[in-house]
Amino acid sequence: MWDAIVIGAGISGCSTARELSRYQLKTLVLEKGHDVSAGTTRGNSATVHAGYDPDPGSYKAIYNVRGSRMYPDLCAELQVPYVKNGMIVFAVNEAQMEEVRRLKEKGDSNHVETKVCTREDLLEIEPDMGEGVIGGLWIPDSGMVCPYNLAIALAENAARNGVEFRLSTEAQSIEKIQGGWLVRTSGGDFETRYIFNCAGTYADKFNNMVSKDVFHIIPREGQHLIVDRDLAKYTKTTICQTPEPLPTGGHTKGMGLMPSVDGTIILGCNADDVDDPDFSDNTREGLDKIVNYFEKNWKHFPISRHVPQFPRDAVITAYGGSRAHPDRDDFILGEPEDAPCFINLAGIESPGVTAAPAIAEDMVKILVEREGTPLKADYKPGREIKAPFRTMTMEERQKAIEEDPDYAKIVCRCEQVTEAEIRDAIRRPVGARSVSAVKMRTRAGMGRCQGGFCSPRVLQILCEELGKEPLEITQSGGHSNILVDHACQPKEGNEQ
Ligand SMILES: Cc1cc2nc3c(=O)[nH]c(=O)nc-3n(C[C@H](O)[C@H](O)[C@H](O)COP(=O)(O)OP(=O)(O)OC[C@H]3O[C@@H](n4cnc5c(N)ncnc54)[C@H](O)[C@@H]3O)c2cc1C
Repeated sequence: MWDAIVIGAGISGCSTARELSRYQLKTLVLEKGHDVSAGTTRGNSATVHAGYDPDPGSYKAIYNVRGSRMYPDLCAELQVPYVKNGMIVFAVNEAQMEEVRRLKEKGDSNHVETKVCTREDLLEIEPDMGEGVIGGLWIPDSGMVCPYNLAIALAENAARNGVEFRLSTEAQSIEKIQGGWLVRTSGGDFETRYIFNCAGTYADKFNNMVSKDVFHIIPREGQHLIVDRDLAKYTKTTICQTPEPLPTGGHTKGMGLMPSVDGTIILGCNADDVDDPDFSDNTREGLDKIVNYFEKNWKHFPISRHVPQFPRDAVITAYGGSRAHPDRDDFILGEPEDAPCFINLAGIESPGVTAAPAIAEDMVKILVEREGTPLKADYKPGREIKAPFRTMTMEERQKAIEEDPDYAKIVCRCEQVTEAEIRDAIRRPVGARSVSAVKMRTRAGMGRCQGGFCSPRVLQILCEELGKEPLEITQSGGHSNILVDHACQPKEGNEQ
């Protein structure tokens, strides 16, 4: 019997798995996707919110503020890039300034540093502040991270400390048994003493299997554009317009421009309720909302001083994700009264990326404090990973090449990813098994050409490392095979 099963390997599940791995526990993570971070954690605005926005006293406020303060140390420990770049929520009229003052009151109640700024104040922070902006809120402790990169790092570290991950394994049902739970999955049945429900937009399904305290999750999709790194030099602060209420409850944080930690710019996002919990598409309607907003409002953003019109031709790709918006409008945490040892990390919509590390700490405490579980004496908090080749100095590059000649072979020219890094991404704990999983770990395929040049070579390296045939390699698990047939019969000894 397992001590703990975590359902879902997004930022909530991976934070929980890493937290559990500090203790003498036998832990299993079940993830239906082909990789860690297959759900919402790969489709969001990547902002580590300071906590100026959630309603004071709510779980969202408590864990947002605590989580955000954990980020600098957490990211340093796991060697994940994190930048505290600050955020400006700007206003273009007096009604929006009212909203700015309301946000300031919330920020004060949440003990988050904020300042209501006049236009002159803003110009001191962002000398290029755009046209029409009359003032705004300055939030110095806002930051940026790559959420899927962090989830992968948390999973690697958890695995290094003994947690087992089963990917492409869908939890299907849960039954109460003597001393715990029986979890039936697409990959067999597992018995466990505790369950951590981190299933994102599916978390209501599992809660409602074991508890009469039912809730429902309404998937709320949001889409983003990515702008080429050439323009990132013109922007360092995250800039959003004041939030807008949504017809079905809650509000957005406002359309914004976020400079990513990888040197690109993220623009977004809309917020629309959908029926499909797996919705992560880009739609004409969703993209139009973003493009129309930025075409109309580009002049307010500091970047417009350098690039006067919204640069459609600098958009290199788009992505989307669905928030797990619960009908209770707050995170749903802990054990339902009628289901002890079943622990919810549910309704984790924004600011879920920010809050996850703090939520995981408290949820794991429920188990370890009740059971008196000892810590592991040999717990290793970090990862053994080299810095990306693209960020190395010339001396570091030289040294890396001397140690491993595969560092001299650039596979992705746009993002300067080497063969050594791709092989390492496949060999690491919870390693890459698809072209997309390599991309998530290394950025091979994320540049201007979007994998046009490097994907065939990545596929070949995956074959070599995993001992597979090219026809077996997928883009992102399941039936997403990239090659469908041989154009001619492969000659013996030459399967390519
Ligand atoms: C458009 C948008 C913008 C956002 N912006 C921000 C932001 O800037 N800052 C911030 O802090 N937060 C933001 N968020 C919120 C944040 O992305 C989420 O709160 C967070 O990613 C949720 O993580 P999770 O692990 O709970 O869920 P997920 O990442 O969805 O993980 C759940 C996992 O469970 C798996 N799963 C589901 N069912 C099963 C099953 N039956 N068996 C096994 N596995 C299963 C899924 O495949 C998935 O991998 C945003 C969200 C969206 C959509």
